[in-house]
Amino acid sequence: MKTKYIFVSGGVLSSIGKGLASAAMGALLESRGLKITLMKMDPYLNVDPGTMNPFQHGEVFVTEDGAETDLDLGHYERFTNINLKRENSVSAGQVYETVIAKERRGEYLGGTVQVIPHITDEIKERIKKVAKGKDVCIVEIGGTVGDIESLPFLEAIRQFRFDLGEENVIFIHLTLVPFLGASGELKTKPTQHSVQKLREIGIQPDFLLCRTDRILPPEIRAKIALFCNIKAENVITAKDVSNIYEVPLVFYEQGLDEKICNRLRLKTKSKGLDKWAKISSALASPKNGVVEIGIVGKYVDLTESYKSVSEALVHGAIANQVKVNLKYIDSEKLESTNPDSELAGLSGILVPGGFGNRGVEGKIKAIEFARTHKIPYFGICIGLQLAIIEYSRHVCGLTKATSREFSNTGEFVIDLMEDQRRVERIGGSMRLGSFQCKISPKTLAAESYGLNEISERHRHRYEVNNHYRKILTEHGLVFSGINPEMNLVEMLEIKDHPWFLTCQFHPEFKSKPFAPHPLFVAFVKAALKNTLQLKKNIRKDISKVVTVNQTKVMKKHRPECN
Ligand code: GLN
Repeated sequence: MKTKYIFVSGGVLSSIGKGLASAAMGALLESRGLKITLMKMDPYLNVDPGTMNPFQHGEVFVTEDGAETDLDLGHYERFTNINLKRENSVSAGQVYETVIAKERRGEYLGGTVQVIPHITDEIKERIKKVAKGKDVCIVEIGGTVGDIESLPFLEAIRQFRFDLGEENVIFIHLTLVPFLGASGELKTKPTQHSVQKLREIGIQPDFLLCRTDRILPPEIRAKIALFCNIKAENVITAKDVSNIYEVPLVFYEQGLDEKICNRLRLKTKSKGLDKWAKISSALASPKNGVVEIGIVGKYVDLTESYKSVSEALVHGAIANQVKVNLKYIDSEKLESTNPDSELAGLSGILVPGGFGNRGVEGKIKAIEFARTHKIPYFGICIGLQLAIIEYSRHVCGLTKATSREFSNTGEFVIDLMEDQRRVERIGGSMRLGSFQCKISPKTLAAESYGLNEISERHRHRYEVNNHYRKILTEHGLVFSGINPEMNLVEMLEIKDHPWFLTCQFHPEFKSKPFAPHPLFVAFVKAALKNTLQLKKNIRKDISKVVTVNQTKVMKKHRPECN
C-alpha cells in the first residue's frame, strides 16, 4: 500500500491544540488497524529543544533513542502505540545545518543554494524517510500560518501534494472560532483569514478543525465552508474538553476518521473507540475520591514544563480510580517559608527533573518534610539526587553533602563520572535515552514493576557517587535499581517509610493512559492510602473532641454521671 500523508497546520493563535489534534487523529487511524507514524516540524532555528529554556518551550520530551524533542512528541506517544525516534522531530535549525554542511562539502557543485529547492527538498526527504513502510504519516507543522519562519515548511508540503497527488496527501487546518459574549455570536472571520493566508501560498485545506467552546451549528459550518472553499461536512468542531483523552471521541463522533480514510482512499473499518470511552468515563467519575499531589519545582509558572509528569499522574489516577489534584509548589519560595504551610495535608509529594541550583534547597526541604512526616515521596532524576543529599546531610551526618552541579566545594555525593569530566560542551555529556536497570528483589521497585530488569529513559549529566554507597546503605538507604553495565545507581528507596522511592531515569515518558506506568500507579496508590489514613486520624481527633465535650455536658446537666 502506498503511504498516505496528512499535514496539520494551525492558524489564528498558537497553542490551540495542534499537537493534541494530531495525536488524536493518530489514535483514530491506529484504531482502524492502520500502521501510522507522527512527525513534528518546528520552524525555529535551534537545532534541538535540548538546550531551550523550559519557561519558553515547555518540557523536553526524550525518545527511546535519546533524542531531546518537542513536547508534542509526548502527546503522540501517549495517544498511540508507537515509539518515536530522533528523526520524528525536525527543526528548521537541523534542516539548515544539513544543507549548509552539504554546501561546505561541495555537494551542490557550486550551484546557488536556495530555500527553494534545497531547503524544501531536504524537508521532503526527511518526511519520506520517516514515512517509509507506514500506511499513514501525520506531519504537524509547528508555528502559526502567517509566520515568516514556517514558510519553507508550508512550501515543502505544497510541493508534496503536487508531487504525490491529491489522493495521497491531505491538508488539515486547525483554527479558532471564538464566541464573543458581548454580541452572543460565534466569529468566523479569523478562520476565514487564516485559510486565505494558506490559499495565498497554494494550500487549500481539505478539513478544518475549529476549536470552539460549543458545538458549531450547521449555519456556521456552512458559512465557514463557503468562505474557505471546503465542504461543510469537512468543517469539524474541535470542542473544548474537560480532559484531553476525550479529543479522539469528539472527532470520532463527527466521523473524522471515516472521512479522512474515504478522502485518502484507505479501505479500513472502524473498530470503535471503547478503550478511549473507558478512560474518559474513569476520569469523569472516579470511585475512590481525590488525592492531592504536590509537585515541587521551579517551572511552576509554566506547567507545560512538567507535561509528561502531570499526565503520568493522571494515568496513575485512572488505574486507582481516583481524581488527582496537582498543587504546583515553587521550590525557590519554599526556601524561605515554613514547609508546613505548603506541604502539610498533601497526599503525596513529587520532585520532578530539573537543572541548576536555583531552588534546590527548597526541594531538599520538601524531601526532608516527606521523609520525616512519612508522606509518600516520588523523586525523579534531580528528585533522586536531592534525596541522597538530604539523607547524607540529615541522617548520615555529612553536613557538606552536595552535587558538583551546585557547588565547587563540599562532599560530592552526586558527581560527574570520571570520563565525563573531560567533556566540557553543554549538551555533550548527558546520559540520554534508554538504559537497562536491574531491580533488587523485595523492594518497592520490585513490587511496583513486578519485574527484575527494566529499561527506562534518561536525561541527566550527574550520577550518584559510588564512594558514598556504603555509608548510605549502612544508614538505611536501599539502592533498589542498578545499571548493570556501568554500575550506576538507578533507583533508591527508604525502608522505614510508607512509600519513598526515587529514580535517576524519567518514567513519565513511557506512561500512557491505557498502559499507566507502574511507578506512577504505585505512587498514587500510596498517596490514596495516606489520604485515607489522614481522614481516619481527623475523624479520630474529632470523635475525641466530641467525647470530651459530651462528658462535660453530661457532667453539667446530669450530676449522677459524675
Ligand atoms: N541536573 C541533574 C543532572 O544533570 C538532573 C537532571 C534531571 O533532573 N533531568 O544530572
